[in-house]
Amino acid sequence: MEMRIGGNESASPDESRIPVTNPATGEVIDSVPAGTPEDVARAVEAAEAAAEPWKKVLMRERGMILFRAAGAVREQHKDLARLLTMEQGKPLKEAVDEVRGFANILEFYAGLSSQQAGDAIRLGPAGDCMVVREPLGVCGAIIPWNMPVLIAGWKIGPALLAGNTLVLKPASTTPLTTLRLGAILDDAGLPPGALNIVTGTGPSVGEALVRNPAVRKISFTGSCGTGRRVRELAGAHTAELTLELGGSDPMIVMDDADIDRAVEGALRGRFYNAGQTCTAVKRLYVHEKIAESMTRKLRDRINALSVGNGLGPRTEMGPLASSGGREVIARVVDETRESGKGTVVAGGCTMKGKAYEQGHFYRPTLVTDVVPDSRLLSEEVFGPVLPVVTVPDLATAIREANRSSYGLGASIWTQNLAAARKVFDGVHAGIIWVNRHLTVPPEVPFGGMNESGIGRENGHHALDQYSQTKTLFLGW
Ligand code: NAD
Repeated sequence: MEMRIGGNESASPDESRIPVTNPATGEVIDSVPAGTPEDVARAVEAAEAAAEPWKKVLMRERGMILFRAAGAVREQHKDLARLLTMEQGKPLKEAVDEVRGFANILEFYAGLSSQQAGDAIRLGPAGDCMVVREPLGVCGAIIPWNMPVLIAGWKIGPALLAGNTLVLKPASTTPLTTLRLGAILDDAGLPPGALNIVTGTGPSVGEALVRNPAVRKISFTGSCGTGRRVRELAGAHTAELTLELGGSDPMIVMDDADIDRAVEGALRGRFYNAGQTCTAVKRLYVHEKIAESMTRKLRDRINALSVGNGLGPRTEMGPLASSGGREVIARVVDETRESGKGTVVAGGCTMKGKAYEQGHFYRPTLVTDVVPDSRLLSEEVFGPVLPVVTVPDLATAIREANRSSYGLGASIWTQNLAAARKVFDGVHAGIIWVNRHLTVPPEVPFGGMNESGIGRENGHHALDQYSQTKTLFLGW
């Protein structure tokens, strides 16, 4: 790899570095260089130099490199997952899922390499057209800290398979596993300059990447505010954009649902990754006939969740990824309680005890009787807090579900196909699950409506978004 700014051992020792801290213990586990706009310019130059040769590599061969890298990721998954837990905080089992998810994505795109398609258009006496897809050139990828490995895969897989070169910026708090994955892709045969990773902050490295006119596409995943800034900067040089932004997914549970299954779905949907998932269950709408029973079961399961260091063998929920994130959550819950806009029936405070002193732990929290204008419903709450609203019927649930500026995902839990169909047709979201939430395998296009973003990742759809058509018109 031509550029691996960050994790580059030859970097000058006095270069300013960003410490990487374990959110469960407060310990600094490593540091990476604080990249500069000049580093970004060098990375983009390396990607530009590699673009033409990489485009000429047969798609099948590009796929083979991804496939080999996926195999190496599987072999090293235990070490990679451990590193991910240490830099991000999530339980080891979730980190293993995420690392395997990265391998799944590379394998999925490797599989698509044998399915190149184009169009032939016959125009009678005017001639014939052949339409092919070409890569865009140099692409930029900006990654958040919550699912740093999976989201890097969502961008690396389709961008490289389509024949683009890539400059990738991980979040400054979670760069370590990504750097290891970059090295694995190198070893699998990726040519120098095809994938470049620049560590550093958003305002410095991120903005320099988005502003660079040689970058023909930016794929950004992160918050809505930063997404708007990225859109403005990329628009200045008409770069293509994929924006995967925030979400406030509703989960609707009807009175005919399998309650135990819905309880487990809500639990995983909300508390996976300590609630820091874009498509987590952020609002739970439960039919009034089952609300009491479902809330009681949820409260008991939530109180029994084992919270601790993600490396612990029984940990079901780790710390929040940052102290700032925990403060925001604590403030929103305190405000809800004090204003009477909801009743805290489980959690609602930081974890107590010596094991939790140095980490950013917050108790898994359940809030019932939440009123519509509560911040728990109107904002994206990025932590382990589940607000519950009781609804009298499906129409009300759909209306309340749509009372949000977001539109990432939504789910309906029912045995009734007609009810599921009504939610599919009526709720504004990029994905509607029935009796499920959160699952996004590589085959399935993923992305949001409204303020949740622009464009889709995953599936063959993402390949289209990393390429453009080019037409040959033959006037015989
Ligand atoms: P963030 O916007 O603060 O940061 C995301 C990335 O952007 C980081 O790498 C950051 O360094 C970089 N960045 C910050 N300022 C920048 C700037 N001015 N120019 C360019 N880059 C800049 O978001 P976050 O807090 O890391 O992530 C959490 C958010 O991401 C949540 O809102 C969550 O819902 C969303 N998210 C969305 C998806 C999705 O697929 N829709 C997936 C995961 C997370």
